[in-house]
Amino acid sequence: MSTTHGPETGSERRFGPYGGRYVPESLLPALDELEAVWSQLRDDAAFQGEFRGLLRDYVGRPSPLYLARRLSERAGREVWLKREDLNHTGAHKINNALGQCLIAKRMGKPRVIAETGAGQHGVATATAAALLDLECVIYMGVEDIRRQMPNVQRMRLLGTTVQPVESGARTLKEAVSQAFRDWVASVGDTHYVMGTAAGAAPFPAIVRDLQRIIGDEAREQILEQAGRLPDRVVACVGGGSNAIGIFTAFLDDPGVALVGVEAGGHGIASGSHGAVLASGVDAGVLHGSYGPVMQDAQGQILEAHSVSAGLDYPGVGPQHAWLRDSGRATYVPVEDDDAVRAFRDVARLEGIIPALESSHALHHVLNVPAPEVEVDLVCLSGRGDKDLAEALQKLEEIDGADALKLDGERTIAPALGHDPAADEDGAGPQGGEEVR
Ligand SMILES: *Cc1c(COP(=O)(O)O)cnc(C)c1O
Repeated sequence: MSTTHGPETGSERRFGPYGGRYVPESLLPALDELEAVWSQLRDDAAFQGEFRGLLRDYVGRPSPLYLARRLSERAGREVWLKREDLNHTGAHKINNALGQCLIAKRMGKPRVIAETGAGQHGVATATAAALLDLECVIYMGVEDIRRQMPNVQRMRLLGTTVQPVESGARTLKEAVSQAFRDWVASVGDTHYVMGTAAGAAPFPAIVRDLQRIIGDEAREQILEQAGRLPDRVVACVGGGSNAIGIFTAFLDDPGVALVGVEAGGHGIASGSHGAVLASGVDAGVLHGSYGPVMQDAQGQILEAHSVSAGLDYPGVGPQHAWLRDSGRATYVPVEDDDAVRAFRDVARLEGIIPALESSHALHHVLNVPAPEVEVDLVCLSGRGDKDLAEALQKLEEIDGADALKLDGERTIAPALGHDPAADEDGAGPQGGEEVR
């Protein structure tokens, strides 16, 4: 494995200048212990056997790789979907939650904690904790509890304590602070389950190692099913765990372009987005790690915005920042409206309701011309049942009576007929414009 993209060990602390550990001193021994335990477990046959066995029999892996014929027709190239939406609990997050709960067991820690915004990571962690008989406490802002009641009910049914956080804006940021406070006091018997490939070292490396199963499987599957590697791998990026999970297997394949799709929200110029890498914000410290972070002139962390709760993170994993700087991967924004239209179109064209997060990646693949690409591999990170109300309301707002219609069915004549051949010539709209 080349060291340009970060050495392939479970213990690297920095990726270029990014990452590190910016945490209270009292947590350093726990991070050291975790790093040491993981450097053993990642190559431990018994641990890996148990983890792989649960991924197969409980999560349902390997997830299928599916050649989406109607999406391919529309894009004018092959579009292969890695179906993480078919995992137990409906997304890639279970891979990581299950792996970290198994690590907690091996460390002899009977209790796990985490924070959650929309509740997806909370549900995955509560699920793994129920399976492995761990006590579980999830910190959640009261505003998020109100907005995400079904996930709160799921967690409670699974035996988890959902701890309401009343301070500040009563959302994710405050929940993180509370969870850290808990961990400082409880570190002897408690493991903190980080939900994405970010945070203090060694979390970004551990989460990547646990999620790399996505790319390892997909690489083998596409070689088998398509007889070749893809020209491009595309994944949405919140903190970056599903993206790094699928990218890792292709890092040393120079012919495979890697594209991370961030939340363009209302547009980068509006300031209301989550496109941390594409917008080129300055670096700072967030959740114990140094890297690009949305902040004001005083260094106060700003709130990110996205129509999808999983992408509104004001920071990003350190390895992604380094992949951008080193030129190995590129990162592009997709705005809210485009993502919800892709959500509709993929439902209509394939009978698959994708997560709004994944819909950002799907828009990029379906509607942004890329004449040099013949074979695309897309990480369909999760299913979109959780997003129905939000997406339908938004579609109604932007497309009115045509909310559920595909381009060709619209009553209002489109300005530009969709002609995939024109896109291939590069004659279609450029630079992330919706083709219609
Ligand atoms: C949480 C989530 C994401 C974003 O998280 P990453 O760590 O960037 O992968 C993307 N898709 C789905 C379905 C999610 O639940």
